[in-house]
Amino acid sequence: MQTQILGLVTPLMALFFAATFVVLWRVGRMKRHVLGFGIAYALSAVGFLITHFLPADAFYVFHTTQLFYTLATIVMLASVCERAGQRLNLASFAVVYLISALALAVAVGFSGDVGPRLIIVNTGYGVMFAMGVTTLLAARRRDMIDIAIIAVMAFQAADFLIRPNLTLMFERSIPAEVYRDSIYYSLIGLVLGVKGVTTAMVLIGATIAEWTTALRESGARDALTGLRNRGSFEEAMRGLLARAQTEGRPLSLVVADIDHFKQVNDIWGHQAGDQAISGFGKLVAKMIRGSDTAGRVGGEEFCVALWNCENVPAHRLAERIRQAFAGLQHAGLNDDIRLTASFGIATARVGETYMQLFARADEALYRAKSKGRDRVENAEDRRAEEAARTPNSEPVELKRAAG
Ligand code: GH3
Ligand code: MG
Ligand code: MG
Repeated sequence: MQTQILGLVTPLMALFFAATFVVLWRVGRMKRHVLGFGIAYALSAVGFLITHFLPADAFYVFHTTQLFYTLATIVMLASVCERAGQRLNLASFAVVYLISALALAVAVGFSGDVGPRLIIVNTGYGVMFAMGVTTLLAARRRDMIDIAIIAVMAFQAADFLIRPNLTLMFERSIPAEVYRDSIYYSLIGLVLGVKGVTTAMVLIGATIAEWTTALRESGARDALTGLRNRGSFEEAMRGLLARAQTEGRPLSLVVADIDHFKQVNDIWGHQAGDQAISGFGKLVAKMIRGSDTAGRVGGEEFCVALWNCENVPAHRLAERIRQAFAGLQHAGLNDDIRLTASFGIATARVGETYMQLFARADEALYRAKSKGRDRVENAEDRRAEEAARTPNSEPVELKRAAG
């Protein structure tokens, strides 16, 4: 009776952690790897409950437990890898599972001693954790939390590969019917408990750290577009500018403003206007590289900082964004209406401040507006600067989609 109650401690703890991760995931609106941690803990709790309550000598007990522990292992590793931006090769995990499930079937069929079975299943989990650690090590990003996660996963691998062999050196044979009275079985409750708690502590810490980062960043994000707000963009830009100067890398700035936007609000309403702004933001986010930074710096004005990007490719990118936006259909506007935007570009000069760089890009944008809108003007293009001094044309109609 006492062992029955004590045996419940580990699965109950695993269920408690499962619930903790699900709550963190829901309340913090966290990414799905946090839900994955919860599912992994729930699966391991089921595995443990099966070992504990099914008849110890039934032939299917080891197979069922192995299935649940394997699923728990794979979900756990897939989640920590996804968190690190890595993908597990599920096919190789399936191969490891099949090999150890087959070996287990042979061991169950040929011997009443659970020793070989324990070695087989644990080696399988150990190999899986080692494979997961290899995948984690291939990730580019690595901070203290990533290292702690790799360490607990490596600890899992080492435990599964070493502990069964060590224990069975002392307890040479364990008949299936007395398995639950063995030293091995009382030790496994303790070890799984310790590993479960350590892993959960590290993962809960990682999740809370991610949550606070997301909260901090959401204050710097513009709610409508998901891009940086003006303050956050300017702060990022100053950092990039300083880095570009010290590293000697090119940094280009694109400033964009949607054309005739007041008319959009006047004709289709403010909400439709908001949708168009959001559409522009999503388009920009989709078209830039991870090292670039975009912000909504005014009502329908946007800035994009292109890191390590010379003037000519920056001009080309702005041109591509212009064309893509001009082809975009907007919810809330008539189907045949297309909006356009004007763009100004400047590439940072040595010793230039953000305000100076912005002023030059903004001047180019102003030139694009005065030359008829829906175009890209470049501050580095001297002929364009000359042309800007000639009188402008101001068409006031919104463009109709071709066809
Ligand atoms: P231009 O082609 O010269 O840029 O003409 P425009 O009408 O777009 O002029 P301007 O850029 O000066 O006008 C911006 C307008 O955008 C003014 C304001 O009514 C509208 N606006 C600013 N912020 C928002 C917003 O968050 N939502 C919506 N729907 N409209 C906004
Ligand atoms: Mg405008
Ligand atoms: Mg404007």
